[in-house]
Amino acid sequence: KQLTSAQVRQMYLDFFKSKGHMIEPSASLVPVNDPSLLWINSGVATMKKYFDGSVTPENPRIANAQKSIRTNDIENVGKTARHHTMFEMLGNFSIGDYFKKEAIEWAWEFLTSPEWIGFDPDKLYVTVYPEDAEAKRIWLEEIGLPTDHVVEVADNFWDLGVGPSGPDSEIFYDRGESFNDLAEDDPENYPGGENERYLEIWNLVFSEFNHKPDNTYEPLPHQNIDTGMGLERMVSIIQDAPTNFETDLFLPIIAKVEELSGKKYGSDKLMDVSFKVIADHIRSLAFAIGDGALPSNEGRGYVLRRLLRRAVMHGKKLGVNEAFLYKLVPIVGEVMVSYYPEVLQQKDFIQKVVRNEEERFHETINEGLTMLNDVLADLKAKNETTLDGKVIFKLYDTFGFPVELTEEVAEDEGLKVDHEGFEVEMQAQKERARAARSTETSMGVQTALLGDIKVQSEFVGYDHLEVESQLLT
Ligand code: ATP
Ligand code: MG
Ligand code: MG
Ligand code: MG
Repeated sequence: KQLTSAQVRQMYLDFFKSKGHMIEPSASLVPVNDPSLLWINSGVATMKKYFDGSVTPENPRIANAQKSIRTNDIENVGKTARHHTMFEMLGNFSIGDYFKKEAIEWAWEFLTSPEWIGFDPDKLYVTVYPEDAEAKRIWLEEIGLPTDHVVEVADNFWDLGVGPSGPDSEIFYDRGESFNDLAEDDPENYPGGENERYLEIWNLVFSEFNHKPDNTYEPLPHQNIDTGMGLERMVSIIQDAPTNFETDLFLPIIAKVEELSGKKYGSDKLMDVSFKVIADHIRSLAFAIGDGALPSNEGRGYVLRRLLRRAVMHGKKLGVNEAFLYKLVPIVGEVMVSYYPEVLQQKDFIQKVVRNEEERFHETINEGLTMLNDVLADLKAKNETTLDGKVIFKLYDTFGFPVELTEEVAEDEGLKVDHEGFEVEMQAQKERARAARSTETSMGVQTALLGDIKVQSEFVGYDHLEVESQLLT
């Protein structure tokens, strides 16, 4: 019997409820009272108030399914089997209550008990921090894992620089030899490495130290547990899908993209990347807009603008030259409705925002692509091999082309790109922005100005560059 994604999510919450946890609903993707974060990027990000002691929870055992956005993985989306910009993290937390032993035992029970997920224990590998003898002992002696299934990994230590920190232990599922192909060029193709064959599914963090500003560690007065399991990855295993995208979470969206583009998923590797990027990005857009973020030129809004533009460009690769992303919003809403009714409830509003943004981008994109194609044709005619950094910058600056997409188009045409030249232009832009900023009397003025600037002549200020570099790394 194959579980649906909704059943897997619910099963996780039911399991931890049976272990005395209270279930917290997913928080908004937009952080509340936390200027340090652009997006909620993990389950624990919403638990900070409990971990730092500013709020005492009703029950020290908490579990949740938390929608999360990570822009650091954007380059991986569609290329690896397992990364999204928006994904769900299933988490159980102990605020000074249970610790390593229970966290490990319950994780194991949930994954392997036939009453719950029922994975074959032979398929599971774990990593531990080399100095964490206790975690290693629990895995070997109490759980009974064979020694070659417990791998020491030096960077299994969760640390934000100051504050609560501690070793972690990660659980991997061996998807088998047939996944070697996918991981063939991957230097991490071994248990405990991160790749398609040994799929990282769950991170158990044992938060037991206070990292002090003088760089020493002292034991915390109470020890906490923070875990995060990727729902999409679990579902890919359970539904025997080659990647996260061939699951019930993404296939309905992909089917709609097939209908709108007239192209077939699975018929061409490059096109498949585009299907996946679109299916991924529309989820982020729909959920983030539903949570109150809007595309704009700054911060969070700028991330949405970039996501939308990337999705539009991938639509173009599938031959879709008009606004179409907004038509995917109801599908995203339906797929997620059982746990996240908010998207379907607000679908008209979300569709309007997406459509408007798409249409504005199409106007400029067509101009930009014409220019790029002209330049590329010209270079080829002259037997030149490199696309000038100035051109890449101009497309970025004037037309709002994501840099990596310009590079992709150029590379598809067999041309090298002048990264250095582009960096020089970016640096000069940064200097100009800095100079401009120092002459502004207040941020208020700058914000007011930005509001008036059309997409056609995008102002790319310093803040944007930071977000952009976050998107590109
Ligand atoms: P990876 O190494 O695969 O990028 P991670 O080590 O950065 O993952 P953690 O911070 O440990 O991830 O998050 C806990 C779990 O959340 C991971 O084990 C994984 O199952 C899931 N996860 C993390 N990032 C993503 C993502 N971008 N898309 C989908 N699932 C993710
Ligand atoms: Mg990661
Ligand atoms: Mg990892
Ligand atoms: Mg991890």
